[in-house]
Amino acid sequence: MPRVNVYAGGTLDRAARRRGDARWLAARRDDPKTRYIAVWRGLCLVRGDDPPRAALLSPEAIAEIAPEAATVVLLGVSDGVAHFAVDLPRHAKVPAPGALIERGAFRDLRAIGGLMPAPEAALLAHARGLMHWHARHRFCAVCGRPSELRKAGHQRVCTDPACAAEHFPRTDPAVIVLARKIHEKVPPNPDYPL
Ligand SMILES: [Zn+2]
Repeated sequence: MPRVNVYAGGTLDRAARRRGDARWLAARRDDPKTRYIAVWRGLCLVRGDDPPRAALLSPEAIAEIAPEAATVVLLGVSDGVAHFAVDLPRHAKVPAPGALIERGAFRDLRAIGGLMPAPEAALLAHARGLMHWHARHRFCAVCGRPSELRKAGHQRVCTDPACAAEHFPRTDPAVIVLARKIHEKVPPNPDYPL
């Protein structure tokens, strides 16, 4: 049976039209139904082992572990429930990777993604990818000034008004192939002798 690419299993509505709606975003941030994915140093908060499951935190729960200044990104909406990702600062006082805490453990998605239900692995990959981009694009690639987050985390803009360059998350298409030798007799080509 072919292995499923779990990262292609996302079911979230990315809600692109809502990213610039500040009132809607503020209401969703505090909505008790809203769920948050916590990311720390590229690791995702996960519950359990058999199989590992995405730890989806309430607004109240994320407020306990994330400082005000944490990077927050809208991932999308599923069945009317908004999903955000929060990147905890590198030096935040959170448990070390692998250490079990009440709400789960911060783990490397590369090690456990294939064991998770596909929609959850895709959700965490989405969160991790966006946070990775933000962490590495804090400064404008055009003029070097600081850039700041816009469009609910799907854009960064240079803080220098004279530059105002817009930057967007990278998309990295990737293909993995298996090279296989095919044993088959091919008639010689008189124009291209080998
Ligand atoms: Zn700039």
